[in-house]
Amino acid sequence: MGPCPCKGGTITVERCSPDHPWAKRFWFRSTLVCKDCEEEYGFFSSAPDKPARLVLKIELKKREESSQNWHMKLREIESSQAFKELSEKLDARLGQERSAAARHRVLVHAGLATGMSLLRYRKQGHRLRTGEIEPALKLLGIQSTELESKALQAKRLWNLSELVPGGIETGIHGLEM
Ligand SMILES: [Zn+2]
Repeated sequence: MGPCPCKGGTITVERCSPDHPWAKRFWFRSTLVCKDCEEEYGFFSSAPDKPARLVLKIELKKREESSQNWHMKLREIESSQAFKELSEKLDARLGQERSAAARHRVLVHAGLATGMSLLRYRKQGHRLRTGEIEPALKLLGIQSTELESKALQAKRLWNLSELVPGGIETGIHGLEM
């Protein structure tokens, strides 16, 4: 526990764990109690069991907006004619293979369907994702400046949405800088 940035209120960090003692899980709960600082500051943590950092609320908002913009960009790409055509061409290319195993091999070798087992591929098939535009174009030996630039835009928005806001020095034990 310690003072908030304006020293008019308090910041409390609690390490919480479930009632049963054998549970290994725990999490941090950080609370800011100050009418003035509540407007300006918030907490950010990469995971519940990681210490939070005190950050500017405006930074949290920017991150949230980038994440929304990224989702919007994905939807925009997926609904574009160029993406649909790419997906159809990929299906046509896979249609040349004789078995699911062969299709799966082609996909994996091209860097598509990464991490997807043959078993899961047999069950679910593969649906082209926006993050796979580059390898799909490469596999098919085609170019699309439209899709490539859109994929790049999506990647930039994703990177922005993953930026960790800078921590504000509080000197409080349990808060990360
Ligand atoms: Zn304050």
